[in-house]
Amino acid sequence: MTPDPYAWIEESLATIHRADWYRKVQTLSDRPGATVVLAGQEVINFASNDYLGLAGDERLIAAATAATRELGTGSTGSRLLSGHRQLHRDLEKAIASLKQTEDAIVFSSGYLANLGAIAAVVGKRDLILSDQYNHSSLKNGAILSGATIREYPHCDILALKTQLSQQRQNYRRCLIITDSVFSMDGDLCPLPTLLAIAEEFNCMLLVDEAHATGVMGQTGAGCVEFFGCTGKQLIQIGTLSKALGSLGGYVAGDAHLIDFLRNRAPTWIYTTGLSPADTAAALAAIYIVQQEPQRRTQLWDNVDYLKNLMQQQLPQLKLLPTESPILCFQLPSPTDALQVGKQLKDAGIFAPAIRPPTVPTSRIRISVMATHQTKHIEALIAALKNRNLV
Ligand code: PMP
Repeated sequence: MTPDPYAWIEESLATIHRADWYRKVQTLSDRPGATVVLAGQEVINFASNDYLGLAGDERLIAAATAATRELGTGSTGSRLLSGHRQLHRDLEKAIASLKQTEDAIVFSSGYLANLGAIAAVVGKRDLILSDQYNHSSLKNGAILSGATIREYPHCDILALKTQLSQQRQNYRRCLIITDSVFSMDGDLCPLPTLLAIAEEFNCMLLVDEAHATGVMGQTGAGCVEFFGCTGKQLIQIGTLSKALGSLGGYVAGDAHLIDFLRNRAPTWIYTTGLSPADTAAALAAIYIVQQEPQRRTQLWDNVDYLKNLMQQQLPQLKLLPTESPILCFQLPSPTDALQVGKQLKDAGIFAPAIRPPTVPTSRIRISVMATHQTKHIEALIAALKNRNLV
């Protein structure tokens, strides 16, 4: 019999199934919001990154529609060739103004922003120190760069300092990379301490504000603002696809850094510019983030309300420490997490199970939105209590 070089795929899939790690898509069929229709069933949505409820906002839709009418559906080329529009520059200036940095550059996704920025600023002769719980895009950016990668235990500053004292002198440049809000736990990196360490050991610091943009800080600029670190020299990455309700990613920082990325970031140079619709929607969202702080206030009121109810009524829940709108409770196994996710769905609540290998321990991940109403939050609590799930 001729050997089948693809036979391993079926075997691998079988292994994934056996471990209960198998993933499949779920179809949502209306505009994103606090409630959505999931496979034909209306559910309360605790699964979305649309923290401010902007992805279904009429103003974003109008901006995207107008940009499409004026500029077409695609940008037709790399930004350095035929793909650049004034709208892209307007968005980059708006991001720089929100982040209070000299400049910003927009990528086609947050994932590509991380890959491109990391691969551009370090290489084979350099060292990357990476938090163990960093997002996949940071980890893969590190691999793409060709630098030596050392992971430090989650937020363990002592371990980070030890690694730097032992290894920093063996490398040309050094980059510390970290999420600011950790996406699957909801806790925050100790940014001021990381900045001090970066300075002490002559390292660059790259912080991923994906879940912080529009959410954290007085003006929604992110954790850098929240921690009072605005204006410090560092590389800030973010996404336009979560609180900003669109699609795309950005790097914000010094003018020289951004200029360098325009010349060296492979995931910016060799990919098509962001579509006019996505660009215009993100620009409209930044305006709303700046003009409507009440959305953020409402979001944090909702987070507090849910946390208080959980503490009072579900003290047995193994909640992970969180300082963001992401609340997770742990379950013993992937099978338990899947079962609880399914039971919640049957009760009209969409809060997904997150399992290895995405995270080390299985959990249900709840993300709160500004547009959740009191009754939505109370329904989640009731479902958790009624089902005796935990
Ligand atoms: N960084 C973090 C921390 C994320 O959670 C995500 C999205 N899950 C990304 C980057 C990638 O962003 P995007 O969806 O825009 O590619």
